[in-house]
Amino acid sequence: MWNGEEEVQFRVDFHASKSFKSAQRSVHPIAQFTNTNGTSFTFAFAFESKKDGKLYYNCNQCVAAKRKELVDGSSIKTIHIYDNIVVNGNPSDGHYPGCQPIRSAQVHAEKKKRQASQLVRSGLSSVASARLNFHTEMTRECEEVGVDEREGRLHWTKKSVTNRLSYAKISKVPPLMEDGSLPEQLTKTNTGQQFLRFEAPDGSKLFVNDMCLSLLEQSSCWKADGTFKSAPKGYLQVNII
Ligand SMILES: [Zn+2]
Repeated sequence: MWNGEEEVQFRVDFHASKSFKSAQRSVHPIAQFTNTNGTSFTFAFAFESKKDGKLYYNCNQCVAAKRKELVDGSSIKTIHIYDNIVVNGNPSDGHYPGCQPIRSAQVHAEKKKRQASQLVRSGLSSVASARLNFHTEMTRECEEVGVDEREGRLHWTKKSVTNRLSYAKISKVPPLMEDGSLPEQLTKTNTGQQFLRFEAPDGSKLFVNDMCLSLLEQSSCWKADGTFKSAPKGYLQVNII
């Protein structure tokens, strides 16, 4: 019998992680849960259950609180997500002592920074104009989204936004050509020097700029090293002398 009680559904929004340090993070974006008072918790992917396909996410703010102070017997909040719905109760309950949800002003500023980054990354705007335009938008929309404008401005420092947008600019990578070869831009250095020097039939490529070639030429002793612990997705570790 219907008893008039509607089951509350706790929904999360997903957005790309600020740092694309690991392939795993870019495959599993950050999950954000917004409380009714406008504050939010963000959750980072931990693992996927092989049994039922549920995704396990850990609270980022709990992790920060734990880093500040270890509290015996306390653990960080984990949510279980299935089809964008949190299925293990209220995502606001049971956090680590001292876990602070993100205030709405920060969330609002963050959203605008993300949009500015996307525009810069797609090559549609310069760093400077994206920073100025989105700062204007951010402050203009504060009232609309119920955020104190002064607090919003505090989350927008010129230096950090410029750094972030500059990173977005350099992370813009043109796609491969239809035949799988590198686009012209990736065969040259930023100053237009030749960078791609050799392509083997198996697809291996050798990159080196003029300065490094001349350093090798002048040196009587060469030492070789390589990174063996990890390789980006789609790449294999190789060290040929
Ligand atoms: Zn937490």
